[in-house]
Amino acid sequence: MAESTVQQSRSRDLDKLLLKPGNLVAPTFEPGVQLRDDLQEYARILVIGAGGLGCELLKDLALSGFKNLEVIDMDRIEVTNLNRQFLFRLEDVGKPKAEVAAKRVMERVSGVNIVPHFCRIEDKEIDFYKDFIIIVLGLDSIEARSYINAVACGFLEYDSDDNPIEETVKPMVDGGTEGFKGHARVIIPGSTPCFECTIWLFPPQVKFPLCTLAETPRTAAHCIEYAHLIKWDEVHSGKTFDPDDPEHMKWVYTEAVKRAELFGIQGVTYSLTQGVVKNIIPAIASTNAIISAACTLETLKLASGCSKTLSNYLTYNGVEGLHIKVTEFVKDKDCLVCGPGVLLELDTSVTLQKVIFYFSWLLFLLVC
Ligand SMILES: [Zn+2]
Repeated sequence: MAESTVQQSRSRDLDKLLLKPGNLVAPTFEPGVQLRDDLQEYARILVIGAGGLGCELLKDLALSGFKNLEVIDMDRIEVTNLNRQFLFRLEDVGKPKAEVAAKRVMERVSGVNIVPHFCRIEDKEIDFYKDFIIIVLGLDSIEARSYINAVACGFLEYDSDDNPIEETVKPMVDGGTEGFKGHARVIIPGSTPCFECTIWLFPPQVKFPLCTLAETPRTAAHCIEYAHLIKWDEVHSGKTFDPDDPEHMKWVYTEAVKRAELFGIQGVTYSLTQGVVKNIIPAIASTNAIISAACTLETLKLASGCSKTLSNYLTYNGVEGLHIKVTEFVKDKDCLVCGPGVLLELDTSVTLQKVIFYFSWLLFLLVC
């Protein structure tokens, strides 16, 4: 197919959204070729993470007409990534994910420019994040989400009536997957709940009580954790368990099998041992694809105003059948990250001691 025909067929569906008026569009939406061209020319999107979800996001955003993308990821490609992180090949093992992902998408989607950043998110200056109109998160860590959320909410300013000042709002689209489950959410600081407002959605990792492991194991995971947390130290005093050493993993697996036989428990396998010990929930390529599609559509809606955005949290469950639900969470009005806070104006001559006294007095008033 000729290049121009490919481009035309690629933008056919996009044109239906961007070139025509609609009933659910944003008040500022002005359909037309100009909007489509401006989006391609000026909209700069940052994707955080170039793993399973990040690869999908980059591909989907590029195919949705965004031409100026950047991606940040600190990891290198491992053999175990290859089954689902489809932009990577065997010869890429050991190379930075961000660099290879950017290169592969640029090879396949003409006209798109992706700048890779092989580093930690904390290594970038705060102002780096200011340059993007939307930040899209394809992460698997709560800490990283919290960090980016704090950065994006840090740009937010309120006017004297505690309304967010529009130019300071940095929207985020957050995706996450865990096995057959996933979520996509839109965070508009100052309007929707931020990540910190709903931090309770991410409960701490479940750990088994040691007494259960030692005395009354009931599941294969209990037997594995017994071998990993108790038996290892008993046998190898002083030697630290290394989850990346296959010999260590094999030892734990063999011990877990013995334990399971003793208690008549089924289901201990080598891959389950790896999963339990490394706290890994198997990643499913189709879940990444579905969540990425939802995130990309929300990014397009935010950037163009072609439709009302998700309000504000979509959950997907593919464990049995296929279930999608949208929940509208509310902002925590006292959120320390996205709330307007309390404005304190003090004279420069005030000493630190007086500032501390002032804070204590303020806290006392708030509590009482
Ligand atoms: Zn908040």
